Amino acid sequence: MNMNYTNEELAFRNEVRAFLEEKLPADIAEKVKGFRHLSKEDHQRWQQILSRQGWYATHWPEEYGGVKWTPVQKHIWDEESCRYGAPRSIPFGVNMVAPVIIRFGNEKQKQTYLPRILSGEDWWCQGYSEPGAGSDLASLKTRAVRQGDHYIVNGQKTWTTLGQYANMIFCLVRTNTEVKAQEGISFLLIDMNTPGITVRPIITLDGAHEVNEVFFEDVKVPVENLVGEEDKGWTYAKFLLTYERTGLAGIGLSKAALSHLKELASRRLKNGRPLIEDTSFSQRIAKVEIDLSAAAISNLRIIASVEGGGVPGAESSMLKVKGTEIRQSINDLARRAIGPYAIPFVAEELNLEHEGEFLSDENAAPLSAYYFNNRKLSIFGGSNEIQKNIVSKMILGL
Ligand SMILES: Cc1cc2nc3c(=O)[nH]c(=O)nc-3n(C[C@H](O)[C@H](O)[C@H](O)COP(=O)(O)OP(=O)(O)OC[C@H]3O[C@@H](n4cnc5c(N)ncnc54)[C@H](O)[C@@H]3O)c2cc1C
Repeated sequence: MNMNYTNEELAFRNEVRAFLEEKLPADIAEKVKGFRHLSKEDHQRWQQILSRQGWYATHWPEEYGGVKWTPVQKHIWDEESCRYGAPRSIPFGVNMVAPVIIRFGNEKQKQTYLPRILSGEDWWCQGYSEPGAGSDLASLKTRAVRQGDHYIVNGQKTWTTLGQYANMIFCLVRTNTEVKAQEGISFLLIDMNTPGITVRPIITLDGAHEVNEVFFEDVKVPVENLVGEEDKGWTYAKFLLTYERTGLAGIGLSKAALSHLKELASRRLKNGRPLIEDTSFSQRIAKVEIDLSAAAISNLRIIASVEGGGVPGAESSMLKVKGTEIRQSINDLARRAIGPYAIPFVAEELNLEHEGEFLSDENAAPLSAYYFNNRKLSIFGGSNEIQKNIVSKMILGL
């Protein structure tokens, strides 16, 4: 297997770099590099720039407006866009529900929803988890009962990321209670503006409003919003999860975070000398850098196998565990580099327009908030414990 880029791939990388230099708005990149939250408008602005370039739907077939990139090209895009500080695409529409609609939806659903995802007209969120159904997702209880041309939906979803911005939610609902848990689930597309839906914020450790609870009370959903067949939703849900896990390793994000960490540790002083020269601290950086190099090679190995026609299997679980542990370690070291300034939480300092005096480095407060926010990495997309169960069964044969 040849791990070096070909001439065509190097030319593609130059094209990506030129695009990012010209088109990535400086204010958005500044927020991303400074660990600040992006507004809905920031996300939409960048999405539209990508759509105009034809580079938004990187997982879709060309006939629906996708872009024909090889896995290596996708990897190059991931690395370069993280390095330049481009926002990650919000995955729920473009990378999650769209592949399900393309694979299992009917013609009308494809014609209705895909163009609206490409144009940014619809903002989707994911209604899988419930208070009693996370790792054990099949035990979900949100009920959909058919009445004529509609389903009547009652129940609750939780941890709904950016649900406060969404006008559409894809939901797993229980349509049959008489059969095995997995066999009575359906996949519904629901307009968030339907009467009976209430969205309530959950404020996370970093003080941010990123996740929500969503309540459904006698919500009328047209039967035409059912994807595929009734009671077959578990198959579609699992298909979607393979897309969710793709990219969770965040190799590009970790590489960008590592170079930021080195730069930060070169600026911060310990006993009058740059922190990066401190033996114990530099050893920690070296360890995480070695782990990251190993994960990056594993990632390329999986990419090479996909190029050769393979399917990413349990290896993607391994990569999710290692990749998220690495990202959390880098966040931890950066927080330590800020030292005592990571402790006081001055919410105003999260805002780039803050006009008062900063306690320390102007990125200290956002960096600390980012550390807390990223505790989520080992929980969502299937917790790391669950991924380890998969690795132990599928790879180690235990
Ligand atoms: C920030 C954030 C955003 C999220 N966004 C969304 C979203 O947009 N939409 C959505 O539907 N969901 C979302 N989730 C939910 C996420 O998918 C679940 O939190 C996750 O699947 C874990 O489920 P749980 O929280 O119910 O924990 P539980 O399943 O109750 O697990 C609790 C603990 O027990 C461990 N555990 C459970 N079962 C096993 C087992 N069999 N073996 C070993 N250990 C086990 C888990 O690893 C975990 O440590 C989000 C979660 C977070 C934190």
